[in-house]
Amino acid sequence: MNIREIIDKKIRGESLSKEEIEFFISGYTKNEITDYQAAALVTAIKINGMDEKETYNLTYAMTYSGETVRFKESVLDKHSTGGVGDKVTLVLMPILASLGYKVAKMSGRGLGYTGGTVDKLDSIPGFNMQITLDKFKKNVEKIGISLISQSEKIAPADKKIYALRDAIACTESIPLITSSIISKKVAAGARDIVIDVTYGSGAFMKTKEEAESLKKALLLTGTHMGINISACLTPMETPLGYAVGNSLEVMEAVDFLKGKEIPDLYIVVRNLMKELLNIPRHKVEEKLDEAISSGKAYVKFMELIENQGGDFDKFIEKYEDENSDIEGIALISDVKGTIQNIDALEIAKVAFEIGAGRLSKEDEIDYFSGVLLNKKNGDKVEKDELIAKIYIGKYTKAKKTKAQIEKMIFDAMKRLSKAYIIKSGK
Ligand code: URA
Repeated sequence: MNIREIIDKKIRGESLSKEEIEFFISGYTKNEITDYQAAALVTAIKINGMDEKETYNLTYAMTYSGETVRFKESVLDKHSTGGVGDKVTLVLMPILASLGYKVAKMSGRGLGYTGGTVDKLDSIPGFNMQITLDKFKKNVEKIGISLISQSEKIAPADKKIYALRDAIACTESIPLITSSIISKKVAAGARDIVIDVTYGSGAFMKTKEEAESLKKALLLTGTHMGINISACLTPMETPLGYAVGNSLEVMEAVDFLKGKEIPDLYIVVRNLMKELLNIPRHKVEEKLDEAISSGKAYVKFMELIENQGGDFDKFIEKYEDENSDIEGIALISDVKGTIQNIDALEIAKVAFEIGAGRLSKEDEIDYFSGVLLNKKNGDKVEKDELIAKIYIGKYTKAKKTKAQIEKMIFDAMKRLSKAYIIKSGK
């Protein structure tokens, strides 16, 4: 067997056999197949797709390309296909753990315009997700919850292929997304999982129809892999919650756990819990409300932070210090009216351009840059009222001249006002 024949077969639109897929995954993981050969095959897969059997064989080969974890008892997990302002993991995982479920989740960093849980939690001084698989298991046994960042050891084939896809504009492919998600989840020990399949301007899948197809592929492949899998479709036309940016999102998650009402975030959390626990909606709401109003979910989040080395008091100190000089970076409405839409992708671009995102895996991000929305879709706005604010962290400011910062603010405010569609009127 040789890689050129395999590439040629996929370029011609034919199905690959189990052996051919295994040959590719094993060869690429061991660096015996080059990046340019893998890029050719991945591009051919993006263009010509993969059938159900190929997607399963690809997922299987990627799952076992590295080490796998097994938990003694069932652990719950959730995964999102990516969003803007998506801090669901930060709230859903402690809520479930506070209700007595065991939760274990492997997360990634943000890339391009989508944020990643690892970056969000990295904004808390000391918090460490680069833990060993053994520690990950022990944490779950000890406090019922642990978060680990994707390591070289778990599904290494996904790590390589994901970075490659990102570099060659091949992220948006149903078999590639399916195999990427399911392989790393199964390898990290997930057996009961809910997937949040997002669609809209701030997601990989731009239409509901594409998201439906992805959901179907995820459910089929997950079931073939022997896990209990369910999925929700979540619109991502507009950011989730009010905060977009790493530390801002951590703060918003904490506020939510302390009882602050954030209706769109509540709905997504409730829908995912309903799928995961397979119980009626009113029971889910009872559990969710109890976890929050009793303070148990908040306490569990603090326990998670402490158990993985984080210092939340220091985070608050830093947060207050960073955000003490923000005057003047506010978007003010020049009309009275109603917010019709806030475009998720445009908001993500604003956050990205002021330092909250990274273009390549090596880029440093600014944990304290981001956008805080003051008005959401459907809200009324008065003339001269605050619509949104941008925060530029000290790390970003330190790297630029005064003129560069002024230009950055000017461009960000221009884009921010473009992201908001306001219908003027009473
Ligand atoms: N999330 C993943 O883990 N992989 C993808 O390919 C897309 C979203």
